[in-house]
Amino acid sequence: MTLAHFLDGLRCACCGALNVLWLDAVRGLVECRQCGERASCLVEVDGGEAA
Ligand SMILES: [Zn+2]
Repeated sequence: MTLAHFLDGLRCACCGALNVLWLDAVRGLVECRQCGERASCLVEVDGGEAA
């Protein structure tokens, strides 16, 4: 069982690199291996106000 899952076909919105994003299932974060940018937009656990 892996805790980190690579997201194929996704491009980092920060540095533009392809296939460098991976999902940290533990923290519910998506992190870029290229530039280190992190985002939690793919996981909506709070169910609050959606933009
Ligand atoms: Zn990046």
